[in-house]
Amino acid sequence: MNNIKTPILDAYSVLDDKPISRELIDSLATLEGEDILDLLSLANKVRAKYAPEIHACTIMNAKSGECSQNCKFCSQSAHHDSEVDVYPLANINEIVQRAQTVHDTGVNSFGIVTSGFGFKTVNDDFQRILDSIDLIHEKFPEMNVCASLGILSEKTATALAAKNILHYNINIQTNPDRYDELISTTHNIKDRINTIKLLKDLGVGVCCGGILGLGETMTDRIEMAYALKDLDVDVIPLNILIPIAGTALEKQSLTPVAEIAKTFALFRLIHPKKTIKFAAGRETRMKDFQGLLMLAGVNGMLTGGYLTTRGRDTEEDNAFIDDLKGFAK
Ligand code: SF4
Repeated sequence: MNNIKTPILDAYSVLDDKPISRELIDSLATLEGEDILDLLSLANKVRAKYAPEIHACTIMNAKSGECSQNCKFCSQSAHHDSEVDVYPLANINEIVQRAQTVHDTGVNSFGIVTSGFGFKTVNDDFQRILDSIDLIHEKFPEMNVCASLGILSEKTATALAAKNILHYNINIQTNPDRYDELISTTHNIKDRINTIKLLKDLGVGVCCGGILGLGETMTDRIEMAYALKDLDVDVIPLNILIPIAGTALEKQSLTPVAEIAKTFALFRLIHPKKTIKFAAGRETRMKDFQGLLMLAGVNGMLTGGYLTTRGRDTEEDNAFIDDLKGFAK
């Protein structure tokens, strides 16, 4: 242990259930090179101790494209000129059929995702989603259903909460103080945070994280991690930006793998007991390093593809999850 840097040794106190100080996190954030591997080793130990189970879920993009919002990274924004499938909300049979396929691959969490600002009223589309959730529960009682439908009002949040969903996904994406600059000017981060608070008050689990590689600083990432702690979200999905042609970030330079791994490890130290999921960018951006990233404190993954980009087959991911178990006691 002699060569391990002092801030990392100090951070081992997380394994004794002691919260880590912001000062120590800031110091760990300056580590470089091989010291990062020592940090990842600690993050993996923390994951193995406090969050050993690996969670996989699959999402369906039930309504794609033509979004009125201008999120800089998103190929589904009508403000961008990206090549993306555009289709209205799937019908109930299509949604249930997709849930059936996911169920048959052995994944027991299924998320319904729609493009767009969100739902302020229980309109026809929203009602169709509610009815689809009912039918999925009826046909596959053991399956968890999640939803990601954008910003909600008290009315729509209450209607959804009555449907016994496991988690609602709505990301803060980055440091909330820089949301306008880094993400979108057509809606306000306060509306997203309000949706999170509404759902938590209604007893719905919240899945909320963000994207790395938007042009944010390490301090922004740490601010995001602490904002998620303040919100006490249940699951934290972390995405790596895939710059998509036609979006405002198509020319964004790629964040080095070591920096992303370090960020994942810091998230695990700040959130020792939470589920942290590696979402988009695992296969397409991390390529040969996705296994390393899964050992940087992550204990969950999206499998079977993303909203507008392909992923790996669930069968292959199931074998990958089994192999990861060899790195925990
Ligand atoms: S992230 Fe969601 S709200 Fe933003 S542009 Fe894409 S679909 Fe619209």
